[in-house]
Amino acid sequence: MKEFELINRYFKGRGITRRDVDLGIGDDCALVSVPENYQLAITTDTLVSGVHFFEDIPPRALGHRVLAVNLSDLAAMGAEPTWISLALTLPSVDLDWLEAFTEGLHEIAEYYNVQIIGGDTTQGPLSITVSAKGIVPRGKALTRAGAKAGDWIFVTGPLGDAGLAIEARKRGIAITPDNRHEVEKRFFYPTPRVAAGQVLRGLATSAIDISDGLVADLGHILRKSQVNAVVQVEKVPMSAALKNTLVEGERWPFVLNYGDDYELLFTVSDANKGALENKLKQYGVEAKCIGQIQAGNGQLDLTLKGQKFTLPKGGYEHFSD
Ligand SMILES: [Mg+2]
Repeated sequence: MKEFELINRYFKGRGITRRDVDLGIGDDCALVSVPENYQLAITTDTLVSGVHFFEDIPPRALGHRVLAVNLSDLAAMGAEPTWISLALTLPSVDLDWLEAFTEGLHEIAEYYNVQIIGGDTTQGPLSITVSAKGIVPRGKALTRAGAKAGDWIFVTGPLGDAGLAIEARKRGIAITPDNRHEVEKRFFYPTPRVAAGQVLRGLATSAIDISDGLVADLGHILRKSQVNAVVQVEKVPMSAALKNTLVEGERWPFVLNYGDDYELLFTVSDANKGALENKLKQYGVEAKCIGQIQAGNGQLDLTLKGQKFTLPKGGYEHFSD
């Protein structure tokens, strides 16, 4: 297992150094300082080869993605990402693979000013677990529980691209090289909406990141908030690449049911709607209003051009078969 000790050199002494890390990699624990009047936000995600990603995913993309999905959860709570720890299970030590993987990881960590403060490496089937930590002013975190009747429902960007990338590989959907490149970029290198999440703080009434699909994730807000919602599906944003590839009837399962795009879904009161849209625009985020919250106890109604819309049965399951 000596080889595995080598792996440390890919993490220790690399990446950014934050002043709030009192003790980083190299002891039994890391020590960090949480500022006064802030709360610590913690989230953990595991990606397993063949379940959450294809075995031939570029390792650099995997390094990016495993951190991006965790940062997306922090963004959904309005937290500012600060530190991560990492557990890596590898079938063997492949130095080229490790170099590319850690490059992808360090790149996104540096971009968001996140320090890797600890980790563990073991031998076994390829699997990666990241636990990301962030800080949020006390009492200001966004949850799934605050949506109220009359609030507007927004998403921060187009949905369905990551799903199309996966299904195009699995089922051989006809897609041009340009469009394939566009949607694969969204799957391999998702952008966590970190700045948008912090903008939402104090303005949005609830938020979640779309990891399991719009319908499933909006369902979480409706149940936690004890409200109903109506979504006008024609208002849900989709990319040109998706529209170019699929006819209208084929699009809905991707746009409504598939996850993996990591856009934020949030609700905002009528009074704060304009202010929030403008503030998001300053950060380059064109949030789109897709529906409205109503009184109720967790039911979602979809409409298409004013008619009741029923989701096609047998939609795609989230990645795994
Ligand atoms: Mg989430």
